[in-house]
Amino acid sequence: MKETEIEWGKLPFGYVKTDWNVRCEFKDGKWGEITATQDEYIPLHIAASCLHYGQEAFEGLKAFRGKDGKVRVFRMDENAKRFRSSAEGISMEPLPIEKFEEMVRMVVKLNKRFIPPYGSGASLYIRPLEIGTSAQVGVSPSKDYMVIMFATPVGPYFKGGFKPTKVCISREYDRVAPKGTGAIKIGGNYAASLNAGQKAHELGYSVMLYLDPKENKYLDECGAANFFGVKGNTYVTPNSRTVLPSITNKSLRTLAEDLGLKVEQREIPYEELSEFSETGTCGTAAVCTGIGQIDDLDKGTSFVYGMEEAGPVTTKLYHALQDIQYGDAPDNHGWCEIIELD
Ligand SMILES: *Cc1c(COP(=O)(O)O)cnc(C)c1O
Repeated sequence: MKETEIEWGKLPFGYVKTDWNVRCEFKDGKWGEITATQDEYIPLHIAASCLHYGQEAFEGLKAFRGKDGKVRVFRMDENAKRFRSSAEGISMEPLPIEKFEEMVRMVVKLNKRFIPPYGSGASLYIRPLEIGTSAQVGVSPSKDYMVIMFATPVGPYFKGGFKPTKVCISREYDRVAPKGTGAIKIGGNYAASLNAGQKAHELGYSVMLYLDPKENKYLDECGAANFFGVKGNTYVTPNSRTVLPSITNKSLRTLAEDLGLKVEQREIPYEELSEFSETGTCGTAAVCTGIGQIDDLDKGTSFVYGMEEAGPVTTKLYHALQDIQYGDAPDNHGWCEIIELD
């Protein structure tokens, strides 16, 4: 596809073929050189550990083109660190941070013609992943690994614009185990949540809001995004070992403080849903989105925040973060790296 054929404003949040992907292999006990290829496929042994025992972790980050024409990548050092902790969480070899950052710069540069223009609402999504590649049948960590990064232009996550979503609670499903892998970004967590997600979709909800898997008493994760609520002048978000530490959430907490809000990261009892003036979800894909209504499928009750528009705090935080990402506001916290394209 030629870049001129892409209608930037109508891009889905999906895979669009770009020119290059970059790779780095761990073999014989060390990481090799980073290579670039136009091949969209990988040679993989039929007994590779990622296929049988789920040794796979991934990341998601974005590059944005600003009004000034410059391209900014948001907090990639945080993604690099989390990629390491995800790898360690399933006994994979963690990729050095410098290698991660070098691969990001390379994949953005090589695919620069796919970075959407400023004002389109689109961005270049970068997807790093790591897999165990050794051929083995016994259950043990792989010896060899491959890290791949590809990039694909994506449109805004929610097609309807910045509109609140409707989510549901069901005690029939847990996303992860209480002492399991909830805090790392691995494909296995997603596979385990697909049935619940499908169920939510069938019933007309965007995602499921999970309660903590141990006691079902506290709010945990919202689909594949973090949950937050606003109560008076306070931004509240769960502190839970089964929630993925979202970089967007971390950034929103800082911005909330900048805006003069108090920030609380703590256990949020289910009952507190009735005390919030706003609730929302956040993550790289959608930045943050208001939740308009939460239906409890087990109790047949609802918490209503308003489906018309997101609350004022959610809206303010959304713009504050996007303005930094697109270079429209000063990057006071040093979150963006400008990628030199030539
Ligand atoms: C990636 C992810 C998020 C969001 O994290 P960001 O760093 O903000 O993109 C939240 N929850 C889950 C389960 C995730 O995998």
